[in-house]
Amino acid sequence: MIHTTVHTARKAHWCDQCGRRCIKPGERYVKGKVSPGHDLINETPRWITYRECDECANRYGRGHLTATDNTPPAVTP
Ligand SMILES: [Zn+2]
Repeated sequence: MIHTTVHTARKAHWCDQCGRRCIKPGERYVKGKVSPGHDLINETPRWITYRECDECANRYGRGHLTATDNTPPAVTP
């Protein structure tokens, strides 16, 4: 399984997904924890954590997680 949480960076981090975009202090990013044996990482025996910049979060359909605008979508009657 993958457990994702959203954090605001307190210091700069490199994104583990694209490996080139720096997550700057104050930016929101997704932190994922992948359980041992998950298909994605070929049965590693331990938990793996990764960080993902907001650009990657958007690319993989998780943009809502890092969106700073928390206004709920308009509801039509
Ligand atoms: Zn990235």
